[in-house]
Amino acid sequence: MDSLISKIRDIPDFPIKGIIFKDITPLVQDPASLRLTIAELVKPFKDQNITAVAGMEARGFIFGSLVAWELGLGFIPLRKPGKLPYDVQSVSYDLEYGQATLEAHIDAINPGDKILLVDDVLATGGTAKASCELVEMLGGQVVACAFVIELAMLNGREKLTDYPLHSLITYS
Ligand code: AMP
Repeated sequence: MDSLISKIRDIPDFPIKGIIFKDITPLVQDPASLRLTIAELVKPFKDQNITAVAGMEARGFIFGSLVAWELGLGFIPLRKPGKLPYDVQSVSYDLEYGQATLEAHIDAINPGDKILLVDDVLATGGTAKASCELVEMLGGQVVACAFVIELAMLNGREKLTDYPLHSLITYS
């Protein structure tokens, strides 16, 4: 994991003062790091009968799509409001910085689908918790949530005790 850690850049005071933003663009730019990240993200989920992967806009799209590809599954984008063209289900929640809403198409998930959620960073857990709720509102079952980075000091895990979590790199 040290090679991956070296590809994550800390940006202090972005997008607002007091936040240390974990910039994953150097990691996704580097072919070996990107390949290793995806291999490690999918490792626990190869034999779990997952039926689809969902990812949160925007960086969850990068990792989630590649995880879906690697597992031979389809990808469900959980999008910011107003972006999806068809009928949507929405969920609103609190962020580490601000408030947000995520939406999915009402036919994105079939009842009983077993969903793996993927995002770049688990911070306060609000985004992941809301995403789990959105999947469940649409009839899906969240099998697990997978993250490249977990910011343990923000206690996101405590909001997600109902779900198995898989984080590649934990900052304490
Ligand atoms: P949270 O809902 O607080 O767990 O925040 C998670 C979402 O916000 C993820 O989609 C991350 O991409 C983004 N995020 C929150 N905090 C950071 C951070 N310090 N560095 C990079 N991304 C972050």
